[in-house]
Amino acid sequence: MGASDDLHARALRVTPGGVHSPVRAFRQVGGTPVYMREAHGARITDVEGREYIDFCLAFGPLILGHGDPGVVAAVRDAATRGFTFGTADPYSLQLAETITSRLPWVEQVRFLNSGTEAVMTALRIARAATGRTKLLKFEGCYHGHADSMLVEAGSGMAGEPAAASAGVPAAVVADTRVCPLDDEAALTALFDREGGALAAAIIEPLPANFGLLPQRQEFLARLAALCRQHDVLLIFDEVISGFRTGFGGMAGLTGIRPDLVTYGKIIGGGLGVAACGGRADLMQQLAPAGPVYQAGTLAANPLGMAAGQATLDRLADGTAYLALEDLGQLLDDATRDLPGWTLVRHGSVCWLHPADAGPPRRAPGALTPAARARYATLFHRLLAAGIYFPPSAAEVFFLSTAHSDEDVVALAEALHEAAT
Ligand SMILES: *Cc1c(COP(=O)(O)O)cnc(C)c1O
Repeated sequence: MGASDDLHARALRVTPGGVHSPVRAFRQVGGTPVYMREAHGARITDVEGREYIDFCLAFGPLILGHGDPGVVAAVRDAATRGFTFGTADPYSLQLAETITSRLPWVEQVRFLNSGTEAVMTALRIARAATGRTKLLKFEGCYHGHADSMLVEAGSGMAGEPAAASAGVPAAVVADTRVCPLDDEAALTALFDREGGALAAAIIEPLPANFGLLPQRQEFLARLAALCRQHDVLLIFDEVISGFRTGFGGMAGLTGIRPDLVTYGKIIGGGLGVAACGGRADLMQQLAPAGPVYQAGTLAANPLGMAAGQATLDRLADGTAYLALEDLGQLLDDATRDLPGWTLVRHGSVCWLHPADAGPPRRAPGALTPAARARYATLFHRLLAAGIYFPPSAAEVFFLSTAHSDEDVVALAEALHEAAT
């Protein structure tokens, strides 16, 4: 029994599944979760002192790696002034001005504590602004754990939804429509049928929560056009892609202007910060300016604002993205003939697509039980080789500015050793 086993036995007694977010429990790869005690740069260290090159990177916030010195200094400085005020403050103003001055589709912004909350708020604004109830989401996209988003395509008629979690009321499920990705015909049919009842369509413009499923520009453009045509609000959920695929995320890259957008992960530099932003007339719906209620005790707390500001300031001139693309191309080259897996990559977001599922697709479905089992083997071999990967075949992995060329080469070598 190792130290992680002892800790996990204790954790199982006091916490459901021993963890505070399900994927951390290693259920999808088997074995005991490795208990980590600290992390610096691209390295994470477990409670027994074993060091790993970290490519999971906490599932997305750490584009600068762990404990970037500039971010740490900003947070330390903020901590000396107070953890939270519960008042108006200049720090959230500065971050809001940074974002709105750089991203034209974010005319106004509100900070919240998690991506889930940001999505909840965007959806509530959309329903209030349109006076409509129904929501459209896409199969293979994740938007956090609000009831209305824990809905998946059912097995029945196309678009007929089913709850993706126990405890989600049927009445809530009934108001969410689920459409396949990468399918203009299905999308058009759905809008023809129900466009007039939809308040909003929400999509990850770079779906990265069920593998990495880059969408065609034409598909995203069609969605935007249908939304406009039917007066449906378009919400880009950029909780992963925002400030990751470029400072402007996917809205910046595609030139498609969402009505509302959600950010999380990178925007807080590793602390609990998220944001809902968009057109001023829509954001003006939010209390106290308008009738849509939303609030947060710790919202825009100065520690989170400092971490976010320091992170975005580092990303603002764009050089970080060029460096990340160089690392990505190195990884492309070094994994081109990897047996059993195909690297799918968009900037610093990477995923191993199981080769037995055919060429990478733009819709979910590649993760057969056999592919998941192969991933579990790969994961544990990487772990033994000193590489920490996400503990699920469905999760993407990340490059950060803290990774060196040598780290990427080490990953590629370990992958070649471990791949089956
Ligand atoms: C992570 C994520 C969320 C949820 O954010 P939390 O902070 O975990 O609540 C929502 N949408 C997308 C696209 C995400 O990747």
